[in-house]
Amino acid sequence: MSASQTSAPATGGRAYTYVDHHHDVVIVGAGGAGLRATLGMAEQGLKTACISKVFPTRSHTVAAQGGIAASLVNMTPDNWQWHMYDTVKGSDWLGDTDAMEYLAREAPAAIYELEHYGVPFSRNEEGKIYQRPFGGHMQNFGDGPPVQRTCAVADRTGHAILHTLYGQSLKNNAEFYIEYFALDLIMSDDGVCQGVVAWDLDTGTIHRFNAKMVVLATGGYGRTYFSCTSAHTCTGDGGGLVARAGLPLQDMEFVQFHPTGIYGAGCLITEGARGEGGYLTNSEGERFMERYAPSAKDLASRDVVSRCMTIEIREGRGVGPKKDHIFLHLDHLDPALLHERLPGISESAKIFAGVDLTKEPIPVLPTVHYNMGGIPTNYWGEVQRGEGVGPDNVVPGLMAVGEAACASVHGANRLGSNSLTDLVVFGRAAAIRAGQVIDRKAPIPTASDAVLDKIMSRFDRLRHANGSQPTAELREKLQRTMQEDAAVFRTQESLEQGCERVSALWKEMPDVKVSDRSLIWNSDLVETLELENLMANAITTVYSAEARKESRGAHAREDFKDGPFDGRDDENWRKHSIAWVNEAGDVKLGYRPVVTEPLTKFEDGGIDPKKIAPKARVY
Ligand SMILES: Cc1cc2nc3c(=O)[nH]c(=O)nc-3n(C[C@H](O)[C@H](O)[C@H](O)COP(=O)(O)OP(=O)(O)OC[C@H]3O[C@@H](n4cnc5c(N)ncnc54)[C@H](O)[C@@H]3O)c2cc1C
Repeated sequence: MSASQTSAPATGGRAYTYVDHHHDVVIVGAGGAGLRATLGMAEQGLKTACISKVFPTRSHTVAAQGGIAASLVNMTPDNWQWHMYDTVKGSDWLGDTDAMEYLAREAPAAIYELEHYGVPFSRNEEGKIYQRPFGGHMQNFGDGPPVQRTCAVADRTGHAILHTLYGQSLKNNAEFYIEYFALDLIMSDDGVCQGVVAWDLDTGTIHRFNAKMVVLATGGYGRTYFSCTSAHTCTGDGGGLVARAGLPLQDMEFVQFHPTGIYGAGCLITEGARGEGGYLTNSEGERFMERYAPSAKDLASRDVVSRCMTIEIREGRGVGPKKDHIFLHLDHLDPALLHERLPGISESAKIFAGVDLTKEPIPVLPTVHYNMGGIPTNYWGEVQRGEGVGPDNVVPGLMAVGEAACASVHGANRLGSNSLTDLVVFGRAAAIRAGQVIDRKAPIPTASDAVLDKIMSRFDRLRHANGSQPTAELREKLQRTMQEDAAVFRTQESLEQGCERVSALWKEMPDVKVSDRSLIWNSDLVETLELENLMANAITTVYSAEARKESRGAHAREDFKDGPFDGRDDENWRKHSIAWVNEAGDVKLGYRPVVTEPLTKFEDGGIDPKKIAPKARVY
């Protein structure tokens, strides 16, 4: 063990004691992205620590059902260029072209690697990895028919990946610090990240992780909304850490609604259900997606399907007594197929909707599911500062991967089954890059007392917060605001109201009340720390959304829907939003150009630039 006890500066009259650790790399987060990065670092012999607020195999990745996309060509014709094209189109031309090429090209190797690590993929009749169709994934540069590209372990793909990566990381001697809550980044005066401070929830001790490289893999911030498919732990902590370090967040306005959350419960029914032949109907029993997306139908991109469902409900064709949801049919499919390929969702439908999906349709509603925005990085996972592109913008010592990051491969809208690919491809890329940039002989930096004092003062302030509003009350106000004002459809009015309301809630934070002052398993304090992180994510989301005067991907504005691209304005808005928020809750916005150059030139075997030039997005 590298731990040693040191005395800390007194904060607010109270002294905290630190346990010190020294590592080459510290990864915060043990979901698919964090574990793949951890494994890659440890395999290279770097002294690696992975910190997680929950047991690794309880990270939200465990809930991923449908699968992971890669052009393996096991079921239908396919190639990486078709996958790249679909990703570019899915992103509504906001993704960075270099990163999207990297994702599509590296995906097959990443899947075989997972297979060799031990992921028990479902098989086709030839014994090859089984692949299912998924929304927005097509053959022939989008012309169709749908491609079978999504590899799956029945409908428990994330579960299998997470368990395998955790086992492999242990085998390679990565050190795990489980049920440790990362509080803040340790940043030097000249902007270098030198580690992270974490609180051990079980013993109540405070830990200073000194490191040459910190990798944030803390997942998404679905819990800023009232109804979402993500776990209670998805509170955007990485975004909070970065914002407090004075660094920006990128493309926060792009929040994905998944078409098929179970009505009421919000639990997910995977898109794989439609991949296996499921379809949506309205109150007239009509398969309405045929009308909106004649070619891809129920397998159009998620933002498109969510909008069509919302329109059907608005126009009075919703189902149920309140006509406020839609039906998903799987009852026409062979029960043996449902049992083999979708056992988990059969169970979810029974428990959360009380339906037997072999006999009845499932009531569903678009539900918040994924954050396209996050901590800006290049395709190596290196965090970017400021508005530029290129090596001068890299924050030394800091990386981000997975849903917490914005590389940006998903742009304005992520395709289903591209996130798991993102986790392993960029988790691996970060490890490769860290192996190149970390100077193994250099001493591990130690943080200054002043930096630690600031971090612990904040912690101490929240620990002793004695206002009038319990955390849960403030959090619910935030979640309801986001649900109402930054929904599937947005207007100038709703977004202005969202900015006002979230800013007012930010100002209410000093009035929060924490009832438990202890340091051991203080879930009240954990949730309050999480609430501060949620606030940073939410405020940058609404301000970035209000400022973006166009419709693109998941950011659908009713006041911008005309023109050849249905409200998308490439001339003025094909750029990434960058948002900083300071302690007072003032948001500053900036913009970064989209990377339009692929990694490989056409002459050298790259994609034809004409193929990926912006055009109308029709499915
Ligand atoms: C229900 C559901 C189904 C999905 N299905 C699919 C699918 O089939 N295919 C697909 O491609 N995508 C799917 N997605 C999306 C995908 O699963 C997620 O985007 C992805 O799993 C996120 O992985 P991650 O590693 O970035 O973060 P997570 O898996 O969310 O892990 C975050 C980690 O960070 C840690 N952490 C967070 N904050 C702190 C802190 N302050 N201190 C210490 N540790 C911290 C947590 O403990 C956890 O280990 C699905 C998502 C959901 C919600």
